[in-house]
Order: sequence, then structure tokens, then C-alpha cells
Amino acid sequence: MDKTELMFKELTEAKGISGFEDEVADLMASYVSDVATVTHDNLGSLVAEKKGKSESPRVMIAGHMDEIGFMVKNVTKEGFIKFLPIGGWWGHVALAQRVLVRTRKGDYVGVIGSKAPHILKPDERKKVLEISDMYIDVGAAGKFDVKKSLGVRPGDPIVPISDFTMLGNKKTYAAKAWDDRIGVATVIDVLHKIGKTHPNTVYGVGTVQEEVGLRGARTSSNLVDPDVAFAVDVTIATDTPGCDGAGEDLGAGAGIMVLDGSAIPSRRLRDFVIDVAEKEKIPYVLTALSRGGTDSGTIQFNKSGVPCLTFVVPSRYIHAHVGIIHRKDYDSLVKLMTAVVKRLDAKTVRSFVRG
Ligand SMILES: [Zn+2]
Repeated sequence: MDKTELMFKELTEAKGISGFEDEVADLMASYVSDVATVTHDNLGSLVAEKKGKSESPRVMIAGHMDEIGFMVKNVTKEGFIKFLPIGGWWGHVALAQRVLVRTRKGDYVGVIGSKAPHILKPDERKKVLEISDMYIDVGAAGKFDVKKSLGVRPGDPIVPISDFTMLGNKKTYAAKAWDDRIGVATVIDVLHKIGKTHPNTVYGVGTVQEEVGLRGARTSSNLVDPDVAFAVDVTIATDTPGCDGAGEDLGAGAGIMVLDGSAIPSRRLRDFVIDVAEKEKIPYVLTALSRGGTDSGTIQFNKSGVPCLTFVVPSRYIHAHVGIIHRKDYDSLVKLMTAVVKRLDAKTVRSFVRG
């Protein structure tokens, strides 16, 4: 594994569902504290300030630290854990997966269970099972007291278990939480690659609680007060069987989002970014996703408005225990964002808004 792959492994295996991002924040801080000054907002988002040749413009680059997961709702008298989804889950991909239940006494492995298909009625078998009909089995049996012995309480976070794995095609990686640790990785790398002479001050931000409503983006952008901002997130790769292929293929390059469910990027900023990609000969794809939001959707509303754009890395099987990304898309994106940030002087940033 090279340095980047080791970072991917650490970041994706870190446990941090929405509202419980501390482990990811500590890791991110350890990666950026050599080049930036780290602070936090009061919800927990990490803000890494890196001064260049000028105090302004203030450039915000944000990846969200949280991943989707679950939370303990209650424990049945037999010791099975009923749970709530944190972020968007689809019943199909949750069943029979391993999870880690994190209690005040420790971390315990559980398996997501349900009634066996053999005993479902024929019409029940055709439907997607609801999360609310599932439970987590941590080995409940006989007199074993799950609540007392394992300390399980409502509100305890539950994290998917999935190891970082390099696939046979060595340019592709499988892991949980690419959404959005790949964004966090991008922020870390860009902070290092921009050097010392960028004509601005850059704020590398790891936001919290994106998956439950872009919450950390609000408080962190209040703190940073950016003149221009970029969110980095994943998009859905559409190059697999049954997809229409109208999105981004794995390995096609850096993704520039021209629309998502929460934001239409600043037109001038978008054209500027495309020009930089063309000039630098960096492979890129223009991509749109009408459903789902990104942190740009919140950051754009800070004060009287902020020109925003979302960069994306395509991932297969997002919002599941394991997704797949391509190294070339990541490398292209880091290159493009570095080239963009280095060009963001006061005059250029002013040109993104109507004077
Ligand atoms: Zn995301």
C-alpha cells in the first residue's frame, strides 16, 4: 500500500456516524496539523486554517466526516436490539450485515437479523424489508442480559463493519464510508499540495452531521465566513449493469457537479473551474444529481451568500456496507482542486459575484 492507500484505510475504517465523529476528527487533525492550525466549531466540525500570501480571500474546502449508520432504539426483553437508521438506508443492503454496537462498556459485534425468508408469507417475500422490522443480534440467548452485561442503552451509535480492501484491479478500492471519507482525504491532500504561496487563506473543513441535514456545514461556515467554498463528496457511479450510464464512470476523472438536490453552483465559478481543468489537461466529468444534497447546499446561504461548487468522486454502492472507488478519479480531483485553489486571488474571487 502506498501512503495514500494507507490514509484511505485509516479514514474509511474510522468509526463516525453522524453526531459521533470524534474518531474521524482526531485522525483528520493528525493529518493536517503539520501544515494548518486546527480548531473546531461547537458542533464538532474541524476547521484547519492554512495561511498563504494573503489573509483574504477566504477559501473553504469541506468534506463531511460523518458516515451513515444506526442508533439503538431499545432492547427487547429477549435481548435483541431494535434500531433507527441514521442517514439514508435501504432495507435490501442492511440485512445480514455485521455492525459494531458502541456502548459505555465497549464495542460489540452484532448481526442485523430478521424473520427468515422461509417463514415469510409469499407477498411479504416480494417486498423490501423495512429497517423497523429488523433487529441486531449480539448473541442474545437464555439468561444472558444484553442490557446489563454489554451496557446497551438507547442512543448508542451502531457502525457498519467493513475492511478497506484493494481489489484485483489495483486501481479500485472497496470500503465502507467512502461517503465521505474520500472528501476528507481530498481536503487533507489539497492542504498539503497547495504549498505556501497560494494567494489566499484556505480553510480545510471536516463537517459533522451532513447525512442528517447538512448541519455541520452551517456552523462551520459561520465560523469560517468564506468568500468562496467547495464541498467534496461522492456521487453515484452509473457504469454498472442496469444503470443508464448518464453519470460518471469509475476512472473518468474529477467530477464537477453542475447540479445537486440542494444547490446550483455559481455559474461563474463553475466556468472558471472547467477552464482550469482544460488548461491543466486534467480529466474531468460534468455530472448532475437531482436528488440528495451536499454541504454546498448550506454553505451557499452563509451571510449574504457564498459562491459554491461541489466536487465529486464517483462511488458504486453508496449508502451500503461497501462501496468501490477508482484511484484515478481521486488523483485527478486532488490535482484539479490544487490548481483551482492556487489561482483564487482577490480579483478572481470577486469576479464570481455580480459587482
Ligand atoms: Zn456525502
